[in-house]
Amino acid sequence: MAQTDILKTDCAQCAALCCLALAFDKGGDFAFDKNPGEPCRNLSGLRCKVHDRLTENGLSGCVAYDCLGAGNRVVQEVFGGRSWQDEPRLTRLMMEAFSGMREVHIRIDLLREAAHPPLAPQLEATRRAFLDRLEQNRWNSNELNAFEVGLALEIDIFLHQIGVF
Ligand code: SF4
Repeated sequence: MAQTDILKTDCAQCAALCCLALAFDKGGDFAFDKNPGEPCRNLSGLRCKVHDRLTENGLSGCVAYDCLGAGNRVVQEVFGGRSWQDEPRLTRLMMEAFSGMREVHIRIDLLREAAHPPLAPQLEATRRAFLDRLEQNRWNSNELNAFEVGLALEIDIFLHQIGVF
């Protein structure tokens, strides 16, 4: 079950990183514009004031978004439960780590899906090795920042090779 849990989003263990880091444009899914790094106007502390009424408030995009557990993992594992609200100097670092961890978790999700239908033994060994590496590593900020231009590219080439994309 641990493998399933790593992609499970737990907002109570996060620091509203999506409500800080992500940008969106006013339109069908969002009722207003928000820039990256701008704390959402609906944040009250680390909680969303309109959480129970997102769709009614024209914010269905927030309902649809899932960080795949990246936010809670960054806050708890990388920053030991600290928050950008208590320590503003962490804001940029937490945003960068969140972005990197989301990329890690997207690759975990894709590598798991690639198990079906079964791969040839050598390809399966490669899939498993990548997956173990992503799931078992205790990530730090530097590793997360380097992920997209390093290991993520290797994994993407592999995923392309086996026809995931
Ligand atoms: S509306 Fe609520 S869930 Fe959406 S970004 Fe703002 S605070 Fe977060």
